[in-house]
Amino acid sequence: MVCKADLHTHSTASDGQYSPAELAELIKKRGAEVWALTDHDNIDGVAEAKAAGKALGLRVIQGVELSADDYLNLHILGYGFSAAALQDWLNSLKGGRNDRKYRIRDFLRTKGLEVPLDEVDAEAADGSIGRPHFAMVMLRHGMVATRKEAFDKYLDTPDFQEMEKGMKPSAQECVERIKAAGGKVSLAHPYQIVLNGESLEKLVCRLKGYGLDAIECYYPIHTLEETAGYLKLAKKYDLRVTGGSDFHGEKHKPDHPLAARELALDWLI
Ligand code: AMP
Ligand code: ZN
Ligand code: FE
Ligand code: FE
Repeated sequence: MVCKADLHTHSTASDGQYSPAELAELIKKRGAEVWALTDHDNIDGVAEAKAAGKALGLRVIQGVELSADDYLNLHILGYGFSAAALQDWLNSLKGGRNDRKYRIRDFLRTKGLEVPLDEVDAEAADGSIGRPHFAMVMLRHGMVATRKEAFDKYLDTPDFQEMEKGMKPSAQECVERIKAAGGKVSLAHPYQIVLNGESLEKLVCRLKGYGLDAIECYYPIHTLEETAGYLKLAKKYDLRVTGGSDFHGEKHKPDHPLAARELALDWLI
């Protein structure tokens, strides 16, 4: 079954600009039929997404994007798992994210920046806090000239990764937990892991051993060559293909417009 889908989106439950209900409207307008809400490390927006999506005739898949410890931007997408089976663990991740904001504040202090946490909290509103919220506050205070600079100079650096080491679940745990909860797993935006071909293949092979189902081959930032390489890798390891926009709203990520990509999804829905 081929459906128009966007399987990677963020709402105000994490670092997205729009509420799940607003996102449902935008997805519908974009012309997708299948939609997964994949907030960072939580499913707090999924109930609202399901209700709003259903009212608009969308097929909504329960999703989550987990940050794994192995590499700074190694993200694991989980789909269609039992919420009850995962909820306690997701709650513990939420606690971890809350502790993390103090570590990020302290890290930025070592770089000579005093970022007020109350403003970071306000930026995240009720959603879980992530680096983009810090970037917004740093920008507002003139500590950086652009959001990109906040990441390039501070939040997406080897130093930052060192500070985070050991604080997140391993990729193995992420994959195995989603699988144990009856879900499907895709490797998010492989380009962002910044591995050469051989290392990426090793990683995919290892994750496949834990139960990985798919690779997110289609992603706005992937070049045609990269996409072709990921499709080839998926084929070689008998993995399915997913795709998504990683839409966060224009404010946070203007270069990630919503997608309505044709995907074969019999294995997922
Ligand atoms: P976190 O959940 O705190 O690890 O933050 C993840 C978010 O930060 C994702 O939405 C990423 O797109 C964003 N992000 C990560 N690296 C960068 C970067 N170099 N430039 C802009 N955004 C980034
Ligand atoms: Zn994000
Ligand atoms: Fe991600
Ligand atoms: Fe994402």
